[in-house]
Amino acid sequence: MAVASAPPTLVVATGNAGKLRELRRLLDGLAVDLVASADLGLPRPVEDGETFEANALIKARAATAATGHPSVADDSGLEVDALDGAPGVHSARWSGGDDRDNNDLLLSRLDGVPHEQRTGRFVSAVAVVAPDGRAWVERGTMEGHLLTERRGTGGFGYDPLFRAEGHERSNGELTADEKDAISHRGRALEAIRPVLVQLLAEDGPR
Ligand code: IMP
Repeated sequence: MAVASAPPTLVVATGNAGKLRELRRLLDGLAVDLVASADLGLPRPVEDGETFEANALIKARAATAATGHPSVADDSGLEVDALDGAPGVHSARWSGGDDRDNNDLLLSRLDGVPHEQRTGRFVSAVAVVAPDGRAWVERGTMEGHLLTERRGTGGFGYDPLFRAEGHERSNGELTADEKDAISHRGRALEAIRPVLVQLLAEDGPR
């Protein structure tokens, strides 16, 4: 009699609900049991890297060390050219408050900046760490403009204030599928997907 085998576990190292939603969608189709690090009660490591890549590796390494399972982590943020790349790796806690406060701060810092100078990009570094310590990291970006007022209620973070290049609607007005197809996170995950498929084949099924 055939015995059904459980899919291998992949830990998603994030406590950000919006990001977790997107990572779950983007990893859909992998035969894997996705577990969020926050649901395992894992503490958040100190993200003191100077780059998205360094911080993504810190998060994935911490999750793998704590669980013994392969992990995937995204570190991401918004770079605004008129603000010399800020908020960058500090995007999550830039204002000291929540997403709403971050967006208010962004609007005030860009007050009076004309459309052609309101350029920027979302950046995502996605890291994968294996139980034996091997690590990979890939970057994806999405270029666009910062708007002068919030538009839409979809997505998370700075999405209502960002319009991707070649699009007429803000990220907050895109459907989930539309955002996934062009997003920094979607691109980074697409680049790292072959590694993940290979690693999970090594790890299971059990
Ligand atoms: P992290 O958890 O340190 O990687 O912080 C990422 C932060 O960057 C989020 O809290 C958001 O403020 C911002 N961010 C990253 N990706 C997105 C996105 O896809 N849309 C909107 N904001 C994003």
